[in-house]
Amino acid sequence: MRLTPLEVMTKLVGFPTVSRDSNLPLVEWVEGYLVSHGITVHRWHDPDQPHKAALMAHVGPMVAGGVVLSGHSDVVPVDGQEWSSDPWTVTHRDGRYYGRGTCDMKGFDALAIWALVEAQRGGVARPLQLALSFDEEIGCTGAPPMIARMQEVVPKASMVIVGEPSMMTAVSGHKGGIGIYTRVVGFEVHSSLPHKGVSAVMEAARLIGWANEVNAENAAAAASEMAALFEPPYTSAHVGTISGGTAENITAKECIFRMGFRVVAGEDPRDWQARYLDEVARVEAAMQAVHKDAHIETKEWFQVPALRPEERGEAEALVRSITGDNAGHMVSYGTEAGQFQQAGYSAVICGPGDIAQAHQPDEYISVEQFEAGHDFMRRLLGRLAG
Ligand SMILES: [Zn+2]
Repeated sequence: MRLTPLEVMTKLVGFPTVSRDSNLPLVEWVEGYLVSHGITVHRWHDPDQPHKAALMAHVGPMVAGGVVLSGHSDVVPVDGQEWSSDPWTVTHRDGRYYGRGTCDMKGFDALAIWALVEAQRGGVARPLQLALSFDEEIGCTGAPPMIARMQEVVPKASMVIVGEPSMMTAVSGHKGGIGIYTRVVGFEVHSSLPHKGVSAVMEAARLIGWANEVNAENAAAAASEMAALFEPPYTSAHVGTISGGTAENITAKECIFRMGFRVVAGEDPRDWQARYLDEVARVEAAMQAVHKDAHIETKEWFQVPALRPEERGEAEALVRSITGDNAGHMVSYGTEAGQFQQAGYSAVICGPGDIAQAHQPDEYISVEQFEAGHDFMRRLLGRLAG
């Protein structure tokens, strides 16, 4: 049975594949559907997370140089969000398809699955591949091992289209990122004797203050040619959540936060990590001068390489030739495109929908954007046919 892109999207959205939960029911369904059309499917299982899998497929001659359609299977949670309709059911109203993941990015996943089946039926001279990852929404940690595995099980493609929502424009660059989990351990005393204790909260504040200084310095500095392509045109540091302390009159024993950097292409996330760890060491030394047990623990929690704009990039040229869009586009959020590029593929981002609707309550993709994505796939199939 051949399904329409909308029918495939409806099926995919019905699997509540929040990153923390299993995506296996979705993967099994996609595998069954592709196999029913004679397509060979490969899986990659993370040994530490047996409840998750990435899925890869190849259609066409068993030769290198094909095109990968890359999407992620996971979605962000709906906890605490007010939805007007069931987030796990695609609901059509006002020219929009509502549902968690319709925009980010099961709409594209559905179009890619549809395209693979069409490529298998109609035949292609140049291979078309599917790469469906997991754990994208929690730091793009599922893609690197999947990409490595992919090169073992199917001939290596030359280019990748990552279908994150870009309103079907070709996005040729994005920032990289690195996140560092930080646990500040202080020494508890009554807050009337602050010189004898170490407040983890107040020491954490020094590190966050440092981040604010870094942001101000970077904003004030002249942007490199590469950095100038991004908005904002500099690397920024951010702390999104913080927790610590037990009472107003006790120097806090513990404070936990995550320091994140969004790094412009051309700069190395590791350098920002090193600068931060220098600052951590400085603060820690001052804490230990007060009490030897006070310390700071850090752990890298994610790292995503930037997508560097390619000079005459093959993937970008293909997408532009299909969409007719020749404007330059850069984004400041991370995707798996930088990871594919790091593995030697030409990579570009192009997918239906607006990133503004991603992760929102009442997430939707407009019917018009979904149709534009469908049209893109038809034309892509025409290019691959011969
Ligand atoms: Zn996404």
